[in-house]
Amino acid sequence: MTSGKFLMVGAGLSGAVIGRHLAEAGHDITIVDARAHIGGNCHTERDPESGVNVHVYGPHIFHTDDAEVWDYVNRFEPFEPYKNRVKTTSVDAQGQRGVFSLPINLHTINQFFGRTFRPEEAHDFIVNEQADTAIEDPQTFEEQALRFVGRDLYEAFFKGYTIKQWGLHPSELPASILKRLPVRFNYDDNYFFHKYQGMPQNGYTAMIEKILDHPGITVKLETVFTREMGADFDHVFYSGPLDGYFDYELGRLGYRTLDFERFTHQGDYQGCAVMNYGEEAVPYTRITEHKHFSPWESHEGSVLYREFSRAAEPQDIPYYPIRQVKEKALLSDYVALAEQTTGVTFVGRLGTYRYLDMDVTIREALDTARGFEAKRAAGAAVPAFFVAAL
Ligand code: FAD
Ligand code: UDP
Repeated sequence: MTSGKFLMVGAGLSGAVIGRHLAEAGHDITIVDARAHIGGNCHTERDPESGVNVHVYGPHIFHTDDAEVWDYVNRFEPFEPYKNRVKTTSVDAQGQRGVFSLPINLHTINQFFGRTFRPEEAHDFIVNEQADTAIEDPQTFEEQALRFVGRDLYEAFFKGYTIKQWGLHPSELPASILKRLPVRFNYDDNYFFHKYQGMPQNGYTAMIEKILDHPGITVKLETVFTREMGADFDHVFYSGPLDGYFDYELGRLGYRTLDFERFTHQGDYQGCAVMNYGEEAVPYTRITEHKHFSPWESHEGSVLYREFSRAAEPQDIPYYPIRQVKEKALLSDYVALAEQTTGVTFVGRLGTYRYLDMDVTIREALDTARGFEAKRAAGAAVPAFFVAAL
């Protein structure tokens, strides 16, 4: 098969992984990104003063059960073992402000209620005295929380945080958001269940730089994509915002954005990487202390982010797709528009308007690149989306 000339819009994980795969297959790849750096939202950068590797667009922890994806990332950058152990500051059942372990586990329950339960006792206590078992089929975030942990834990750890994070009451959000978090009746405080968890030794940008390091790949930074650019290429893979590709002609898909208030400290400010704040009265959702994401390094200085969430305005960076009923209707209109478009495939978290973890992004990027090659080999039309359900 003849080699092609392909354009990737975005030098984040989606653009880098698809670009690398196609470059290795002998194609000529150009990657443009509007930003002055590669890496997309996973971008990490060393703070020149302290030497701390900063997760510029918010904390990123790699976790997956996908062995191929794990091997893929380790091929480019060695991963250090890293377990995400999150703490939260809130008010306990006796009205005392304190620091608690997350996700809710036996330690949290014993701390919060001032008890010394063993696993079965804690389980019976939550099920018989806390959980609202009258809720048979929880639909909303609030119902899910009341059903499984009860009102006291819900109000301390989830209600205020979720109102701050989403700008919506938990009764307006789907149960699926809370289902991402486990409740454990032992002392396991690992935030994730996944088999493989870790951090790239020199950060995500170092890893993505190596993914892009191939003679078939040219990267152009500070270059904003325009649809006319597509004319010079056989196909475009677009990881920018789906509505942005169509100049927002049907309206804007809703996003939450984040404001990071950066501050520095000498020594150890909070003793852990991520401290959540459950109370609604505290205006930020969490504070991240970046040096704790690289526990194998040692730095006296420290860089921290206070994280605030709000509705994204047109000039803001889109972070979390909202995906309420209104946005889903608009999304299907854009999907219909995209499906009438030829010569472009929409990929990644913005191109498909979904929250995607890094491992899922890489999995989809590999599948897209392979699917694309198969379509080309068969002389078949290339679809606008390789993911089925948007
Ligand atoms: P992006 O990283 O957004 O890359 C898209 C790129 O396209 C950007 O660089 C952008 O500048 C560029 N672009 C857009 N439009 C244009 C245009 N018109 N012209 C030129 N360039 C353009 N995942 C995890 O697995 N673990 C975590 O702990 C985790 N934490 C997260 C925390 C936060 C706050 C957020 C928001 C996400 C987190 N993620 C996490 C998800 C992770 O960020 C994504 O999986 C990943 O960034 C998706 O990569 P992407 O290439 O699809 O998109
Ligand atoms: N959440 C919460 N309190 C916390 C942490 C999480 O209420 O201390 C809620 C919040 O609504 C969040 C959801 O649980 O969106 C899922 O948590 P996760 O850590 O996956 O958050 P995200 O990746 O959305 O930031």
